[in-house]
Amino acid sequence: MGSAIPENKHLGATAELRTKNKYLPMDSDKPANPNPLKNEDFRLAVCVLASGSKGNSIYLTDGTTAILIDAGPSGIEIQRRLKSRGLSSENLSAILVTHEHADHIQGVGSLSRRLRIPVYLSRKTEKASFIFQKIQNPNYFDCGCSFDINDLSIHPFSVSHDAEDPVGFTIQKNGLKIGIATDLGTATSMVKHHLKGCALLILEANHDPAMLINGPYPWPLKQRIQSRIGHLSNKESKILLNEVKHNRLQHVILAHLSETNNTTQKALSTVGRALQNCPTQLIVASQNSCGEIILLK
Ligand SMILES: [Zn+2]
Ligand SMILES: [Zn+2]
Repeated sequence: MGSAIPENKHLGATAELRTKNKYLPMDSDKPANPNPLKNEDFRLAVCVLASGSKGNSIYLTDGTTAILIDAGPSGIEIQRRLKSRGLSSENLSAILVTHEHADHIQGVGSLSRRLRIPVYLSRKTEKASFIFQKIQNPNYFDCGCSFDINDLSIHPFSVSHDAEDPVGFTIQKNGLKIGIATDLGTATSMVKHHLKGCALLILEANHDPAMLINGPYPWPLKQRIQSRIGHLSNKESKILLNEVKHNRLQHVILAHLSETNNTTQKALSTVGRALQNCPTQLIVASQNSCGEIILLK
């Protein structure tokens, strides 16, 4: 825990080096079902590879086009986690970047070079980290402007967070929509607008406020996390979910939980109150192991 990234604050090269190689082999050494999606009938498949202040990455595919949203762990660790689920990194078409904090970008350069795939990011985000100087094929998006990667329609929307140009994404294929909003201090009306109508949501549930206040973090960091440009608490996540839930919402994945200021049980019980009497599946994404592949039909 001593070398954990302090809730994604901007980091320099030294901090990045300190965070390397901290991922344990874990489930990635288990034999995987090769090509698990081959005979499945689905429109979109989603797998959270890692989530939390040590590294974030989400895999999404429609069966033809596969993308990563963020590449916070090292490229090698991301490839290992994909393999642990029988997924191939060779099929990846692109990496999308939400913002420049180290827990979202450390693997972006190496993975994009190794796989020769483009990186989609905003120009302001690119300027905010030296890591992007070495990416070979940047593709720029503007917040609020949709773009396509093959049949996937991507919409980046602005979120309130202390980065240069932080975004959440919705990704649609044939009317099926998933929403991703992590690293946000408050859920603005714009965030709520975009997250409505999703079949799957990946939502931040970063901290339990009492654990944060009574916990070991220095006061300025506590203030930052609680601020409107910090991270969403369990309660704030519940309020957001209450406003965007609907009867076709199949899955909610709680993400970016603090290992210091939250527990899986607290996140599930608090946010779960928004889903009482709903058939929606609620799960928590893990920092240390790859999530299950979720199929949306
Ligand atoms: Zn983060
Ligand atoms: Zn961040």
